[in-house]
Amino acid sequence: MFTKILIANRGEIACRVAATARRLGIKTVAVYSEADANAKHVAVCDEAVLIGPAAAKESYLRGDKIIAAAKATGAQAIHPGYGFLSENAEFADACAEAGLVFIGPPASAMRAMGSKSAAKQLMEKANVPLVPGYHGEQQDADFLNGEADRIGYPVLLKASAGGGGKGMRVVESSTQFKDALASCKREAISSFGDDKVLAEKYLQRPRHIEIQVFADTLGNCIYLFERDCSVQRRHQKVLEEAPAPGMPAERRAAMGEAAVAAARAVGYVGAGTVEFIANQDGSFYFMEMNTRLQVEHPVTEMITGTDLVEWQLRVAAGEPLPKQQHQLAIHGHAIEARIYAENPEKGFLPSIGTLRHLGTPAAVSFELGDVRIDSGVREGDAISPFYDPMIAKLIVHGADRKQALVRMAQALEQYHVVGLNTNIAFLKRLIEGQAFAGADLDTGLIERNHDTLFPAAQPAPATALALAAAALLGSENSGAADPWGQTSGWRMNQSYARHLAFSDEHASYDSYVSYRREGWLFSASNEAPQALSVTARDGSAYSIQLGGQSARGTVLRDGDVFHVFSNGAHYQLTWSDPMAHAGETEAEGGRLTAPMPGKVVAVLASKGQEVRKGEALVIMEAMKMEHTIAAPHDGVVDDILYGVGDQVADGAPLLAFKTA
Ligand code: ADP
Ligand code: ADP
Ligand code: MG
Repeated sequence: MFTKILIANRGEIACRVAATARRLGIKTVAVYSEADANAKHVAVCDEAVLIGPAAAKESYLRGDKIIAAAKATGAQAIHPGYGFLSENAEFADACAEAGLVFIGPPASAMRAMGSKSAAKQLMEKANVPLVPGYHGEQQDADFLNGEADRIGYPVLLKASAGGGGKGMRVVESSTQFKDALASCKREAISSFGDDKVLAEKYLQRPRHIEIQVFADTLGNCIYLFERDCSVQRRHQKVLEEAPAPGMPAERRAAMGEAAVAAARAVGYVGAGTVEFIANQDGSFYFMEMNTRLQVEHPVTEMITGTDLVEWQLRVAAGEPLPKQQHQLAIHGHAIEARIYAENPEKGFLPSIGTLRHLGTPAAVSFELGDVRIDSGVREGDAISPFYDPMIAKLIVHGADRKQALVRMAQALEQYHVVGLNTNIAFLKRLIEGQAFAGADLDTGLIERNHDTLFPAAQPAPATALALAAAALLGSENSGAADPWGQTSGWRMNQSYARHLAFSDEHASYDSYVSYRREGWLFSASNEAPQALSVTARDGSAYSIQLGGQSARGTVLRDGDVFHVFSNGAHYQLTWSDPMAHAGETEAEGGRLTAPMPGKVVAVLASKGQEVRKGEALVIMEAMKMEHTIAAPHDGVVDDILYGVGDQVADGAPLLAFKTA
């Protein structure tokens, strides 16, 4: 076994690999970019080497610098994690040339599976079922349009080199084909440096079911059952679970064997995942093979009681697989939720900022217990625009799916982030929604349940306002005998009441609180006053009784903003000093601004042009995704402030726009 390895990655996966290495007594070397000098993955490794500036191309994708770091520190092997260089065959070759073990499959297997098109050609020969489509070499637009017409719409265009849900376009009709192709190729070249695409039939209501495979250098190849990753947004996984609900034992075996056949066909070694797309009737087709450890591997670890990173290390060191097929069994049910810094209400746009407060469920080390958190960030760390905006993976295990669902809901409720937007409240609605809870799964689940998953903005309930009020008053009167002695107030209903003005993005809440011998009286947002008492308090966690209702919540104050986490929701209540002038609302400047820092990749409108509501005006690229800036209403483009190729800052005005 190795005595020292280098981890060529960052974030949660670097931390996760380091944890297993430490347990096995293997020393670890981290590499980091200038943006990550104080990152968690640097702190958890034994040594660290700076490899370049923030941009991944100048650091985490610099194979030469990473190999030099491994040589300089005396590491014997390199674990690439996922993303970055993990599926880069040239890097695997370069490791071998430098006398380093690449902890992953042979470069030849990566090459065979690296292109979705070539992999499909290979699988076709091995009689693995494929979605009808075109995955050949010809890339001429007219030719591909003809192929799409032949396949029949809707058609899915995919970057052959794609990954992470990027570089895919659904095309509904022949007339849309060429625009979609151009957009797909643009994203493919900028994300993967290769604009080759394939076209295939876009299946209706499919499920994404994938098989974890593992092979060693001695010729053993097994499968560790399946994961259902159907719940996706933008073709990227949001929730993953194992086993797949409703999977009959015979189909599990058939899919497992098909996956092993696919792995054997390319001489696979190490951890890999064969992804299938399945119809509701159970028929399944090969989609792609990911030749690396998968983001969602923890659900497999939880149901099989294995540590897949330990297996990777053992196999890379030439040892046989720790278990054979007949020694594996499924125990209980596991679910993973990807916690992202993003704004689900705004099309899941990544959210950049500092984790000013990070409260996690009472947990858990990564290998023990029913709740596991794989995270690469700590309180005070920033989510930057340079890398993936994932904050953590939350993984729970239960005796059955029902128990796992309950644990997930509880854990999400205890996950509190202040400083940037997250998808936590959305995940809770998703977990508790009828579709997911009832295992009515397909890749369109989120879109299909849009109305329940994105309920119309609700004003904060009285209990949330009461929790904020309790925290505010509690913090003001600590130590004072009479909490009301010092404070200014107003007369209301013949009693001495204090006005507490809160507001959030949906409404303003004129609340009043008065102190009586019996306790507090609280009136939320001009409602009838009710008795309010704090029944228990543990730090920032409050239990209150408001009239006949009891409520619990965590209240964190950040300046004048009270963050109330209660029942899975996060209310951000801004408290305004009643003596101060009400803030003037900023006039809409008639400008359309950049939703995040990025690059302008296309300007579709010209100065003076009349445009209709919804028409695309500018396309930006940020975090490897394209974002369309569209006309908010009918109008005229007054001015265009940036050109193609320009780098723009978050919130920068992109163009001036006036209503027709
Ligand atoms: P999985 O299939 O393992 O669930 P994804 O397909 O979502 O994972 O992608 C795995 C991760 O790899 C993503 O979360 C992303 O961080 C990273 N990733 C994907 N593509 C790239 C890329 N081209 N460059 C860097 N990182 C990438
Ligand atoms: P990536 O490399 O980005 O992971 P995949 O080929 O694995 O790309 O596809 C990602 C997702 O896109 C799938 O999980 C599925 O939701 C959807 N998808 C892929 N192919 C099809 C298809 N033919 N029909 C319907 N949905 C598809
Ligand atoms: Mg995939």
